[in-house]
Amino acid sequence: MLTLANVALLSQLALQQPGETDKKPEDCSFEQIEFTINFAVGRLNHCEKTGDNQYKLFLEPEREKINPSPWYAFAVKNKTETSQTIDITLVASEGVSRYKPKRSEGDDIWHAIPFSEGDGTLQFELTLSGQTKEYIAGQEIIDNVHYIEWLSSLIKEPQQTEVISLGVSSEGRNLAALEHRVESSDKWIILIGRQHPPEVTGALALLHFGELLFSDEPYVVKFRQKYNILLVPNMNPDGVYHGNWRLTAAGIDMNRDWKNLTLPETQAMANYLKKLVKDGGKIEFAIDFHSTRKNVFYTMPEDYEPRSGVPLRNPQRVYNWIEEIEELVGSVELDYQPGAHPESGVFKQFIADEFAAHAVTYEVSDNEERNNIKKVAEAALISLINRLD
Ligand SMILES: [Zn+2]
Repeated sequence: MLTLANVALLSQLALQQPGETDKKPEDCSFEQIEFTINFAVGRLNHCEKTGDNQYKLFLEPEREKINPSPWYAFAVKNKTETSQTIDITLVASEGVSRYKPKRSEGDDIWHAIPFSEGDGTLQFELTLSGQTKEYIAGQEIIDNVHYIEWLSSLIKEPQQTEVISLGVSSEGRNLAALEHRVESSDKWIILIGRQHPPEVTGALALLHFGELLFSDEPYVVKFRQKYNILLVPNMNPDGVYHGNWRLTAAGIDMNRDWKNLTLPETQAMANYLKKLVKDGGKIEFAIDFHSTRKNVFYTMPEDYEPRSGVPLRNPQRVYNWIEEIEELVGSVELDYQPGAHPESGVFKQFIADEFAAHAVTYEVSDNEERNNIKKVAEAALISLINRLD
């Protein structure tokens, strides 16, 4: 059962996240072909026609000198009645091949596109039947609306679980979360994702992890009666909306802001967690989902001494967790790397220093097989529940 406040929130969230927007790239409408980005997550800066059926598409970051992860997502429309084959060259200052091109007819099914690489360019061919439109993107498109609908679809125990908003982003988008409360327990796990908008493989891992955690499987049903859960799948809705390469709408890397807490997004989350602990809650474990070149878990060192002087609880637990994941997934390559960076402002460091709890940065390889992403996420959940029992 949704509460009244919940219904109001959900409709407000939906209103704030229209599927179509007025986003527009520069000079991207041609006689026979049009490139558009009038949808959330869309990103393409400007276009040039360089020859018969040849187009150069330019990608620009939201700020100079951020990490080279050019995100792109656009629709291509064949304006003619006949089939056309076109050559597309994506151009970015560096790193353009981090995200390999994929195509979809708008049905959420994505196909890899064969491509070749040049210096700061990525080239591929596209054949479109007459009067059709296809979506091209660096990874699957998962937008803000999807997260909100997804969170409400997870609710299994309506008396205990609800969609809430932790606060609003710089541009006023709600930070939607699923809060699962168990009266008899003071223990919490915290799950967050999408601090960096284009890190979609990390997002896929979180979606699978969350779906299993709120499924009908007896082991999770039992777990949900013992643990409180906060799930915030989309920490950076402004960045996701704009198709940013890395930053929030305020031009800040959120995962460097957890020490100084200058952003409304990090402040909202920090306030929530501090209140939860003040009210007697104990954070047992936190996971922050990301993507990078390989599968790797960044942990806190076992002997880390938090700034607060309070030693980390269960310092060995995270290593037992990883060990069991490795056993369960067999051939999928996983790595882990302990490290403490007290000045870095990353989330796992914040959780250790503020709450003496272990948090992990769960990085998924950009090009990992989608089935393997699910396999690791499932193993991560099973192993976590085994550790927390
Ligand atoms: Zn990241």
